[in-house]
Amino acid sequence: MRVVVTGGAGFIGSAVCRHLVRDLGVGVVNVDKLTYAANLASLAPITDHSLYSFVHADVCDATAMADVFRRYEPDAVIHLAAESHVDRSIGNPGEFLQTNIMGTATLLEATRAYLDRLGAEKRTAFRFLHVSTDEVFGSLGADGLFHEATPYDPSSPYSASKAASDHLVRAWQRTYGVPALISNCSNNYGPYHFPEKLIPLVILNAIEGKPIRVYGDGLNVRDWLYVEDHARALFLALTRGTPGESYNIGGRNERTNLDVVRSICAILDRRRDAGAPHEELIEFVADRPGHDHRYAIDPTKAEAELGWQAAESFDSGIEKTVVWYLDRRDWWEPIRSGTYQGQRLGLLASV
Ligand code: NAD
Repeated sequence: MRVVVTGGAGFIGSAVCRHLVRDLGVGVVNVDKLTYAANLASLAPITDHSLYSFVHADVCDATAMADVFRRYEPDAVIHLAAESHVDRSIGNPGEFLQTNIMGTATLLEATRAYLDRLGAEKRTAFRFLHVSTDEVFGSLGADGLFHEATPYDPSSPYSASKAASDHLVRAWQRTYGVPALISNCSNNYGPYHFPEKLIPLVILNAIEGKPIRVYGDGLNVRDWLYVEDHARALFLALTRGTPGESYNIGGRNERTNLDVVRSICAILDRRRDAGAPHEELIEFVADRPGHDHRYAIDPTKAEAELGWQAAESFDSGIEKTVVWYLDRRDWWEPIRSGTYQGQRLGLLASV
């Protein structure tokens, strides 16, 4: 089996590539534009594997996408390439509309053209999995969970662009018969996470004794999913899921942002002899505009139909994550110091 993984140099995409190649022996063609969020060092464990290939390309480039299908004749696509940072989408929405909406449309069109050329057997077996977010559902009050049938109600340019891409995927499935599925997952965390997102940023600021900034009162609730659990779920959705269906994937781990920050501080207090308690670094700052109060996913359908279960509780996953960042200064120090861009180009040259 050979799978095109778009965005495979990003946080979740690299976990998917490592899982497919290393754990499952599945061939991967990683198609990535290498934006600031990409890091080829996250693929070091599989870069030299014969099952792994890399294509430096933009999913908005129709010619490049057609070339990928022609050259690699994949059995499936897992589409993760996206602009993914909510704060950046507020400052600069254009890039999000381009990649998340037009990029998805371009990839769907390339897939459709490829399927038209395929023999019946391979066409029947082909799958397109679109990886989306629970943020398309908007915000929850104190109670309730997001289900697959929850109406879309996105709040940020990021979540609106992801909602639009989900609608395109459904339309291409219904109109053109592209055998597409959608997964909507909660917030991921774990190793190799770019330190602009809450958990890695808090860990690294705490390690370096820098302020830990928390939006508003810190009581916004997120449902946390360990990235390796997510990677397993995505392959199961691809191989066991039904085209036309969507699957909510979550870890059943609701935490307020403040609880998350305090858990990280407590782990570092135990593991490092660093003087004052790390919680003293916490500072509350003005809330993000349009900040959704609560996200929480009901993953019952994925558990029942895909035979998937999250293996990590939040306590075990966050401990593993903090330990990983303590051990892997080689991965994050170049990003924090800014030498990363130059190194990234060096890595690119060696691919
Ligand atoms: P990320 O920002 O870490 O990685 C995105 C990757 O896509 C990068 O490698 C980047 O270079 C690549 N990319 C961006 N624009 C591209 C383009 N035009 N063409 C080709 N490649 C491009 O993102 P992530 O956190 O790994 O998220 C992956 C997917 O999962 C996204 O679609 C995101 O919406 C979704 N998602 C993420 C989370 C989360 O908690 N991280 C939660 C729910 C859903």
